[in-house]
Amino acid sequence: MMKKILTAILGTVLAAGQLATSVCAAPQESQPFQDKALEMLKTTVAIRSVEGSGLVKDVAEYVAGEFRKAGFPEQDIHLLPIGDTVALVVRLRGDGRLGKKPILLSAHMDVVDALPEDWERDPFTLIEENGYYFGRGSSDNKFGLSVLSATLMRLRAEGYVPGRDLVLALSGDEESLMATTRALATTYRNLIDAEFALVADGGGGQLNEDGVAVSYTVDSAEKTYATFEMKATNPGGHSSLPRRDNAIKDLSDALNRIFAFEFPVMSSELTRAYFSRTAPLVGGEVGDAMERFAENPDDGEAVALLRSRPEYVGSTGTTCVPTMLRGGHAENALPQSAVATINCRIFPGVGVQKTLEALKQVVGNDALEWTVLDEPLESDASPIRDDVFTAITNGVHASYPGLPIIPHMASGASDALHFRAVGIPSYTFSGIFMKSSDEYAHGLNERVPVATLPVAMKMWHSILTELTQ
Ligand SMILES: [Zn+2]
Repeated sequence: MMKKILTAILGTVLAAGQLATSVCAAPQESQPFQDKALEMLKTTVAIRSVEGSGLVKDVAEYVAGEFRKAGFPEQDIHLLPIGDTVALVVRLRGDGRLGKKPILLSAHMDVVDALPEDWERDPFTLIEENGYYFGRGSSDNKFGLSVLSATLMRLRAEGYVPGRDLVLALSGDEESLMATTRALATTYRNLIDAEFALVADGGGGQLNEDGVAVSYTVDSAEKTYATFEMKATNPGGHSSLPRRDNAIKDLSDALNRIFAFEFPVMSSELTRAYFSRTAPLVGGEVGDAMERFAENPDDGEAVALLRSRPEYVGSTGTTCVPTMLRGGHAENALPQSAVATINCRIFPGVGVQKTLEALKQVVGNDALEWTVLDEPLESDASPIRDDVFTAITNGVHASYPGLPIIPHMASGASDALHFRAVGIPSYTFSGIFMKSSDEYAHGLNERVPVATLPVAMKMWHSILTELTQ
């Protein structure tokens, strides 16, 4: 107990000292916490916290220990075992003067595995080289975890008292089952309940190949991820005695109809804002189509052009595409079954069941059997909140004045999905600014630019103070 009080006092004295010696330049004040973020990045990258390893616990215990050292009281640090992994929740208490619910901050402690023999450098050692930090998790998502943690420590050391609580929730299996996120959103709702969530795992700044910042993305909705299996069956028989009906033929006919089908055009406040703000960056005929679509989603020509581009088709409605096939059991036998896997990214608000009904209708063959794989989770789009977007804009503009801030609908699932599903509006963005050619999350030689760490620290400090005063 005594020791805890002592470190708390020491922490404050240290912070005051830093302020006194570096009154001139704001970035200098943040240096110790930038160093702390880097130290945390280094330490957590070295822990191979992959699915089934049981090592997420080590990350959580280390991070919890850092918060203790920084003077956070024990009752505000919660290590929550969930299955063979854990979640960690840390609260920076405010004085409640704003009369508002807390803000939830989130990142994840687990990583996709990396095989050292496939990498040019050891994936579990943070290595600085050529202006990058290399290592598994350097961008996804130990960067987010480290920067958010160090920022909360900095706020506390500065003696900053937020007008509402800031709650950091670190999940332990974002890359696999998301059981920890589900538990945080439901079982432990009382610990993480918030007016909205800021998730530091996705979005962020895009640099062009010359390293110039061109835009900043905030994901405020996710399409619903759902996978269906469609199965054709047949009595089969000897292949020397072919019959008119055939499981593979039935399945192919159905697939051809699905390929020829387009889901109805849809738009929302979010996708219209996305297209109208992206239009000037893209320019040309695609930019022109974006602008026209934002004004009138019934503009057939604009829709056709956007739907011809894989990177934009998903923002114009639901998409479903066959991704896997299996069928038959011997080369000289008529197939007794043929199965296609169809993966869908469903526009928020449409629903899994309605999408399945639409596919069945398109196929028009009642003899086919359909199965919904796993348990798709549906969530509505989060509103484009003024307070959140203004704070993000100011935080980004502190380093990149005038950079366009673009609300975006993600087509994959992340922790934000689970928060949104229980009614907590969620916004996913990170302090990482990088070129798309440097994006190696989940892949080999994952990296993050060294230059982005101070930018991220500055951004989060600005956003969190703006939203809590
Ligand atoms: Zn991630």
